Amino acid sequence: MNLVLLGPPGAGKGTQAERISALYGVPHISTGDIFRDNLKRGTVLGRRAKEYMDRGELVPDEVVIGIVRDRLAKPDCEKGFILDGFPRTAAQADALKAMLADLGKAIDHVLNVQVPEEAVVERLTARRTCRSCGKVYHLVFDPPAKEDTCDACGGELYCRDDDKEETVRARLREYEDKTSPLIAYYEGEGLLRNINGAAEMDEVLRAIRDIIEA
Ligand code: AMP
Repeated sequence: MNLVLLGPPGAGKGTQAERISALYGVPHISTGDIFRDNLKRGTVLGRRAKEYMDRGELVPDEVVIGIVRDRLAKPDCEKGFILDGFPRTAAQADALKAMLADLGKAIDHVLNVQVPEEAVVERLTARRTCRSCGKVYHLVFDPPAKEDTCDACGGELYCRDDDKEETVRARLREYEDKTSPLIAYYEGEGLLRNINGAAEMDEVLRAIRDIIEA
């Protein structure tokens, strides 16, 4: 089961990817999480990615492509994978196709999670992330019991720098310019499956499962 989750930032790709991963036992590969993890550990990669992330811009293709190539070659990807936040440019999509061909694999479905722009801004600016375990909350729709504290692990909740409104708008512009052309690209490959990401979380998951199990 080789899946790609496409859609603007804030479409709920990460949340759904976690749930699919738990249900089907295939790894959730989020390039954004890989960068944030590197940043937390103070690696060179993390410091380099931060410059772009703080501005809401995309990290250069050659950096991201190398990371994904290494990750997809790991044994836990043998049964499949869920890519979340990759590819985000035409060059990344071409590179993905080539690296999968080298591994004797191909994408089964590209799930295009659709959410209107204003809903995305509203979602992201109210998003809070746990500094320790990475769990994500929404101050209105999925609030923690105690403000600023993670229900799961007691860690501190924070607003990601790139979830501030100005950066969210910049990320959406990057999405429109560089990532949204991939919708037509994958449609042309016969892989695109549209999902209404504005629906309730369980309903979105149901729609995804219907596609996977069809
Ligand atoms: P995300 O958590 O997927 O929203 O990613 C957070 C940030 O990481 C993005 O705004 C980019 O700066 C960077 N990033 C993540 N994935 C990619 C990618 N495939 N290509 C370029 N930059 C990326």
